[in-house]
Amino acid sequence: MFDYHIHSEFSDDSTEKMSNIVEEAIKKGGKKLCFTEHMEFNYPHEELKFELNYDEYKKEFERIKSIYGERIDLYMGVEMGIQAGKREIEETIKYADSHEFDFIIASAHCLEGEDLYSMSSDTKNIDEFFIRYFYEMLNVFKHYSDYDVVGHIDLIRRYFLQAQDHKLGKSQDVLRELLCHVINSDKGIEINTGGLFYKSANINPTLDILKLYKEMGGEIITIGSDAHIAERVMSNYSKAIEALDTAGFKYVTTYSQRKKEFHKIK
Ligand SMILES: [Zn+2]
Ligand SMILES: [Zn+2]
Repeated sequence: MFDYHIHSEFSDDSTEKMSNIVEEAIKKGGKKLCFTEHMEFNYPHEELKFELNYDEYKKEFERIKSIYGERIDLYMGVEMGIQAGKREIEETIKYADSHEFDFIIASAHCLEGEDLYSMSSDTKNIDEFFIRYFYEMLNVFKHYSDYDVVGHIDLIRRYFLQAQDHKLGKSQDVLRELLCHVINSDKGIEINTGGLFYKSANINPTLDILKLYKEMGGEIITIGSDAHIAERVMSNYSKAIEALDTAGFKYVTTYSQRKKEFHKIK
């Protein structure tokens, strides 16, 4: 199996060594692993800056690849944090254009300049919240297209317990618009098992969204654990595979030098 969403010590919110992650992946029978370190402009947090040191990252990645590269295929990716501000969009476009990666996840961790993680959870109208979140991503993607998949597209469910079982109401219209844009741009989404370790205990996205994406013609989907520590590499994959199967997906996607490849799930 593959893990296309992993953070190591090159992400500000992880202290894990790349070597530990790779060894864990080999132990679990992983065939391909892609590091996706955080990079985000103007992340609104005092301590976490999410500014990736590309040169150091590349150097360590090459070193790790020279040690483990014959036992597992290793790739160097990035999780670009996206925000809808004009400056943030410009900087994101510039950064993606001037750095080489195998794979780019575009993830919205913020909503209107505030990070979701620290936002208060007393939001009464969850659907309205989803509308604003999906709309913000859609706005960014109208300008920024240098990415491969959208990360944890319903991240709101990870941090807000009220959102866990929320059935999308009016927000489904914006979500459809967003997915339509993604599909028509030949991009994809990911299935991310990291949310299972939060109180909300959801895979992102939930089955309703996976099904909607499939129905709309979405085929490109990567799989990732969003692990920030080695032991969570490729965790809860049986649940992810089950969800993919239920939604009708037969293939998962991997990337190398930004080119996609499809692999039969079973
Ligand atoms: Zn993320
Ligand atoms: Zn992540």
